[in-house]
Amino acid sequence: MTTIDRQFIPVAKPLIGDAEKRAVMDVLDSGQLAMGSRTEAFEKAFAEYVGAKHAIGVNSGTAALIVALQAHGVGPGDEVITTPFSFIATATSIIACGATPVFVDIDPFDLNLDPNQVEDAITDQTKAVMPVHLYGHPARIDEIQELCEDNGLALVEDAAQAHGAEHAGRRVGTFGTGCFSFYPTKNMTTGEGGIITTNDDEVARLCRIIRSHGQEVRYKHDYFGLNWRMQDMNAAIGLVQMDYIEDWNTARIANAEKLASLIRTVETPRVRDGDRHVFHQFTVRVPRDRDGVQKQLQDAGIGSAVHYPIPIHQQPIIRQMGFGEGSFPVAEAAAGHVLSLPVHPSLGPEDVEYIAAALNRICG
Ligand SMILES: *Cc1c(COP(=O)(O)O)cnc(C)c1O
Repeated sequence: MTTIDRQFIPVAKPLIGDAEKRAVMDVLDSGQLAMGSRTEAFEKAFAEYVGAKHAIGVNSGTAALIVALQAHGVGPGDEVITTPFSFIATATSIIACGATPVFVDIDPFDLNLDPNQVEDAITDQTKAVMPVHLYGHPARIDEIQELCEDNGLALVEDAAQAHGAEHAGRRVGTFGTGCFSFYPTKNMTTGEGGIITTNDDEVARLCRIIRSHGQEVRYKHDYFGLNWRMQDMNAAIGLVQMDYIEDWNTARIANAEKLASLIRTVETPRVRDGDRHVFHQFTVRVPRDRDGVQKQLQDAGIGSAVHYPIPIHQQPIIRQMGFGEGSFPVAEAAAGHVLSLPVHPSLGPEDVEYIAAALNRICG
C-alpha cells in the first residue's frame, strides 16, 4: 500500500461541528460573556451524565483538581497520596494547595495507583487520596474508596481522561469527588474547561464558593478562592458535546477492540472484568526502540504520542523532593515503553486496519 495518497492520521482530533459554532455565537449575541445560564445548564447535564448529585463548572481540569482539594480542606502541612504516572497537573494541583504529594507505585495491569501500596503510605498528615483513571480505564476504585473510608480520608478522583468510564456499572467521578477536563484532546471538549462532580452537598457548596474568589455573598470573602469560573462560551460548547459523548465513547471502544484484535506484535491495553474503559488513549507497550517505532509510524502517516515519557517523581521540579531512579520501578518501566496510537472517533475502519498493519510490520 502506498502512503502518498493517505491523509495523515493524527493521534488526537477534537470534533467541533456547526452546532458548537452556533452555540458560541448565541452566547456572544446574548451579552452573557462570563459564567451564567449556559454554565448552569451544562452542570446539570454533566451531573446527570455521570450520575452525580452536583457538578461545578470551572475553567480547566487543573482548576477542578485544585478547587476539589481545597473544598476537602487540603492545605499546607497535609499530604495527598497519588500516582507518579500521570500528567503533571495531578501533582502540581496538590502543590498549588500548599500540600505535599506522596507517591506510591502503580499496578502493572492498568498503570493506575496500586491500592495495596496506598495503606503503607498513610501518615497522620494524610488528608486525601487522589487516584487517576489513566487513559480512560478506572483505577481500582472500590479498594481505594474503602481505604479512604476506613482512614477518614477524602477521595478525589482525577477523571480528566475518563468521561463515561465505569466500574461495576457506576461512572467514575461518583465514588469520591470527581475532576474532569475538557481540554481539546479529551473525549469531549469545551475548548479549555473542567468540572467537579460530587454527591456531597457541603463539598459542592464549598466548590462553588472557592471557584469564585471564596465568596458566597458578593464582596464578602469567607474562604480563600481565586477566579476558577467556567465561561458560558465554553459551557455552550460542552452542552452540545453532551449529545455526542456516548456515540464517541462507543466509537473509541469499537476502534480499540478492533486494534487489539489486529495487533499481534506488541502488548495491547487490558480491561479489568466489569470495567468500562473509554479509551481516551489506546496505549501499547513497545519492548524496544520506541523512538524508532514512532518515527516509522510517522513516516507511514500515523501520529503517536508517549503518555508519559518522564514519571512525575523524576520531573525536574519534583525530583528535588528527594526521589531517585528506582523509587517507583513499575512507573519508570512504563514510562520507557508506552506508546499511544490513534483511537479517536474520526478513524474509519480502513484507518484502524492500516494502523494495526503498519505497527505489525514495524514491530514484527
Ligand atoms: C488533562 C489532564 C489534567 C489537566 O486538565 P487541564 O484541563 O489540561 O487543566 C489533569 N490530569 C490528567 C490526568 C489529565 O490528563
